[in-house]
Parts: sequence; C-alpha cells; structure tokens
Amino acid sequence: MATIFSRIVAGEIPCYKVAEDDKFFAFLDINPLVKGHTLVIPKQEVDYLFDLSDEDLAAMQVFAKHVAAAIKRAFPCIKVGQAVLGLEVPHAHIHLIPMQSEKDMLFSNPKLKLSDEEFREIADAIRAAL
Ligand code: AMP
Repeated sequence: MATIFSRIVAGEIPCYKVAEDDKFFAFLDINPLVKGHTLVIPKQEVDYLFDLSDEDLAAMQVFAKHVAAAIKRAFPCIKVGQAVLGLEVPHAHIHLIPMQSEKDMLFSNPKLKLSDEEFREIADAIRAAL
C-alpha cells in the first residue's frame, strides 16, 4: 500500500505544496513546530533516508537547499535547521525548520494549530520566495 506521502504526491490527499521537481516534493508539515516548518520527500517510496542511492540522496539535499533558502527569505530566521526522524511516517523525509533559537528544533514542543488560511499563506510565501 502506498504511504501517506506517496498519496500526497499523487494528489490523492491534500497538502500545502511548496515545491516539486521530477524526483522530489516539498510541502508544509501539518503539525508545525514553527511557521514555515516544511517536509522534503523523494517521490520514490523509500522508508529510510539513508537507503536512497548516493545520487538521489545528494540531489535531495540540493533540492532541500533551495527550499530552505526560500523558507529563510519568507520567514526571516537565524538559520533553517534540518532534522531527520522518520519514526512516524515510513517514507523518507527531511524536516526544514526556520530557527530563532535551538528550542525551535525540539520535537517534544507543542505543535502550532494553524487555520487553513494560515497554512495557505505560509505555502504561498515560501513558493513566492523560491
Ligand atoms: P517523523 O516520521 O517522526 O519525522 O514525523 C512525521 C511528520 O510528518 C510529523 O511532523 C507529522 O506532523 C508530519 N505529517 C504526517 N502526516 C502529514 C500530512 N498528511 N501532511 C503533512 N505533514 C504530515
């Protein structure tokens, strides 16, 4: 069965899309730690990030780099932090999180509750900054 993230890529499940190319896809995390918290995934269905080929892993990191630059332009921050957990969804993903302090990277923090309109505005702002 397809992962929830593959179903997002296929358009079967809605998301707040930020960027896409032939191999990778970026969309807002639905339970964000901060505004601008974005996930980058390979379209290829691989559970563990480090099971990607060297070429795909490198290309995914370059794709994430461009998304991170747009996040930083749209949501000014000290740096965009990157984290890989993958304990919940078995489809490799990189979390990109605009940081004002290291505390913004704490996954045990309560998640933001945003309205549909707020999510749309955030995704629009990042897309416009790409
Ligand atoms: P982890 O696998 O531990 O890195 O966590 C999975 C992340 O995916 C969590 O931060 C979830 O909020 C996020 N997530 C799960 N389902 C969705 C979805 N349908 N749309 C956007 N983000 C999601």
